[in-house]
Amino acid sequence: QLQGKTALITGSTSGIGLGYAKALAEAGAAVMINGFGDAAAIAAMVEELGALNGGKAAHNGADMSKPEEIRAMVAACGDQLGAPDILINNAGIQHVAPIDEFPDDKWDAVLAIILSSAFHTTKAALPAMKAKGWGRIINTGSMHSLVASPYKSAYNAAKHGIAGLTKTVALEVATQGITVNNICPGYVWTPLVENQIPDTMKARGLTYDQVVNDVLLDKQPQKKFVQVEQLAALALFLCGDAASAITGTNLSVDGGWTAQ
Ligand code: NAD
Repeated sequence: QLQGKTALITGSTSGIGLGYAKALAEAGAAVMINGFGDAAAIAAMVEELGALNGGKAAHNGADMSKPEEIRAMVAACGDQLGAPDILINNAGIQHVAPIDEFPDDKWDAVLAIILSSAFHTTKAALPAMKAKGWGRIINTGSMHSLVASPYKSAYNAAKHGIAGLTKTVALEVATQGITVNNICPGYVWTPLVENQIPDTMKARGLTYDQVVNDVLLDKQPQKKFVQVEQLAALALFLCGDAASAITGTNLSVDGGWTAQ
């Protein structure tokens, strides 16, 4: 389905991003993954992805908080695998604290990695997509692109920002064969969620089980975590011709969270 296409996926050495990379590689796309982690573990991921698509996989360790590194990553993707036809902006971090105690550096980091990085990747990748008259930009937003939860001011601001960026870019390229959409997951069981449990315990004075059942899944009506594979399947659908009229949207995959 995606033979001859190249996908660049930010924040894809773990969790949802790695799920997207596997699905796109399985469909035949060349994939460049990005993100941090143990070098041997990342090499194994690249090998595993290459086994799915005939060896067209690479990793770039650019820090999504650094615009120069982002631009260099998009250029390196062009050199190594071809200019990205599919760009997935997925890198993200979380910090949980009341706003009057929210560390300035955490605010800056969350905004840079979630929101500004998507601006820089999109800006760098769009010219080649326009030249080819085909492109897919998929942002990983969140239910927090649409509604808020307390103690996540930077994350909610950045994810609402991604929703606005999605709509804006979609309008700018609407006649050029390029679609831009924002996938909005509810809680997905990944390291990002697991790692915020201790801070949420502290901020709310709760036990581990209380955080899982009464905070995380409290507003997720299906009472279960979204699966990485379910998001990957949607991303794959968005890359296909059947989805070519879907653009500028927030697509909720949240077990009913935002129905409330
Ligand atoms: P994760 O922690 O498993 O993966 C995050 C990835 O981003 C990792 O590969 C990490 O190395 C990378 N990363 C972090 N900082 C980076 C930086 N400065 N530069 C480059 N890469 C960096 O998280 P996840 O749960 O898979 O989240 C992926 C995306 O999905 C995020 O944007 C997150 O906000 C969003 N999301 C997650 C959930 C959830 O419940 N897990 C829900 C809604 C939205």
